[in-house]
Amino acid sequence: MEKLEQLYEGKAKKVFATEDPALLIVQYKDDATAFNGKKKGSIAGKGIVNNRMSNRLMAHLEKAGVPTHFVRELSERETLVKKVRIVPLEVVVRNVSAGSFARRYGVEEGLPFGEPTVEFSYKNDALDDPLIALPHVFALGLATREEMETILRYAKQINGFLRELWASCGVTLVDFKVEFGRLADGTIILADEISPDTCRLWDSATGKKLDKDRFRRDLGGVEEAYAEIMARLEAADA
Ligand code: ADP
Ligand code: UDP
Repeated sequence: MEKLEQLYEGKAKKVFATEDPALLIVQYKDDATAFNGKKKGSIAGKGIVNNRMSNRLMAHLEKAGVPTHFVRELSERETLVKKVRIVPLEVVVRNVSAGSFARRYGVEEGLPFGEPTVEFSYKNDALDDPLIALPHVFALGLATREEMETILRYAKQINGFLRELWASCGVTLVDFKVEFGRLADGTIILADEISPDTCRLWDSATGKKLDKDRFRRDLGGVEEAYAEIMARLEAADA
């Protein structure tokens, strides 16, 4: 499958049309941004890790019963995916306090929750992706009740599956963000990516951060952390 015209260039990926109107090619870049694009940089090899990790995780999730956009890996940075109309929500699942949760509620990071939480942000850069309540999702017509029920069910299923998988790598899945989209017939599927850019992944024994927080917080060893987390997954999930 060949890349045709570029449809979109985002912060982390480029999206291309293909000869099949139902399929797209995504190409992962090494560009890194944080704080809604205010911090910019590059992480050598990140695009390769994110492409390979996202594909591997989505292939597993598909088998576990979560439909995904993943079709086929084309190269180390390029993947063929099903084209969707993205539901403009960031769906965040948390198992342990961190990031905006810890800031908003004034608690330390690292407090494990008795039960995972799911929350939504409205994907809108101009508004800084504000947190959004379900009634407001419906009021704005961003998704239907039925779609949100499906999304919530998949989000929890994804968390259950990934938590176990990462545990087998000696890694705690602290939190993550996923995006869903609609196929032409309206079917909701998992889209975008699941990678160290979109998850918090802590070494279970030492608490070492093996994700994008190393970049966001200038912790150093960013490239090494991306390489290490990929190697951990490949070793445990051969
Ligand atoms: P951003 O838009 O936040 O800068 P990216 O650089 O990751 O993010 O760009 C990828 C874009 O492609 C995102 O807007 C994402 O919602 C969208 N996208 C991801 N998967 C699909 C898909 N299967 N079909 C259509 N759009 C997709
Ligand atoms: N996240 C993401 N994209 C975003 C915002 C958050 O992938 O635009 C991920 C982030 O990597 C983390 C989870 O979602 O794994 C929860 O992030 P949080 O709300 O704590 O926000 P942050 O601390 O990044 O501001």
